[in-house]
Amino acid sequence: MSEASTYQALRGHLAALRLAAAAEALPRLLDEAKAERWSSTALLERLFALEVEAAGARRHATLARLACLPAPWRISDFDFEAQPSVDKKLILELETLRFLDDATNLLFIGPPGVGKTMLSIGLGWAVIDAGHKVHYTTASDLAARCHKAALEGRWANMMTFYSSPSLLIIDELGYLQLPEEAAAALFQVVAQRYLKGSTCITTNLGIASWAKVTGDPVVASAMLDRLLHRSVVINIDGPSYRMRAHRARAEAARKAVGGNGR
Ligand code: ADP
Ligand code: MG
Repeated sequence: MSEASTYQALRGHLAALRLAAAAEALPRLLDEAKAERWSSTALLERLFALEVEAAGARRHATLARLACLPAPWRISDFDFEAQPSVDKKLILELETLRFLDDATNLLFIGPPGVGKTMLSIGLGWAVIDAGHKVHYTTASDLAARCHKAALEGRWANMMTFYSSPSLLIIDELGYLQLPEEAAAALFQVVAQRYLKGSTCITTNLGIASWAKVTGDPVVASAMLDRLLHRSVVINIDGPSYRMRAHRARAEAARKAVGGNGR
């Protein structure tokens, strides 16, 4: 076979195997290989490394899309000094993702603005980076979607959907009183995931007042049993970071006004 037809055959193989990144880089790599006298092993390694990298990027993009994380926050963006009630060592340990191995659940409990959502999203991104499935939802969204699914006869599908991620983040439990069927949906999701996948819940309610969210103490305690059986509870009781930023801006504005006044 002539060089030109070998080249055409190679392009054909790459196209048939859908190795688009390798196909695109092929002419450039062949030139470089010639100019720098690469061995054929080195050339093949470069070609496949490019394709592996592209496949990784595609997988990451798909996982990110499915996760629906509402912000790009990373654990490294979290200012631990501003929130001393958060145990930095514990959060960094969680970031190793060992908690996924035995489906440990995470509970972030604290008043608004202290970083509960930020930390859960930061862990979500770490899980995606490690190549696992994550899904983010708020408690009221989850309830609404389950309710709609039940009406449309898609309940089983919905349960499969919420069972499949390695980490399911349920944000903002307790901000709204959930109607009874919503509490039942939440319970089902937690029960299905029990010992199979990690569920991370953020809430402004202390564990003692969970019966109030669900309206039914029996459902609340059954859900808590499963959630807490294997869990890490992170109580954050420090100042609101939002308020802190607000105070800092107000202080700066006051100073500016004061400076002009003199
Ligand atoms: P919560 O979910 O507890 O109500 P959030 O996680 O939504 O609070 O945090 C509120 C805002 O403050 C967000 O913009 C978040 O990025 C920021 N924030 C909170 N705590 C910290 C922190 N320790 N370091 C940096 N930003 C923070
Ligand atoms: Mg929040």
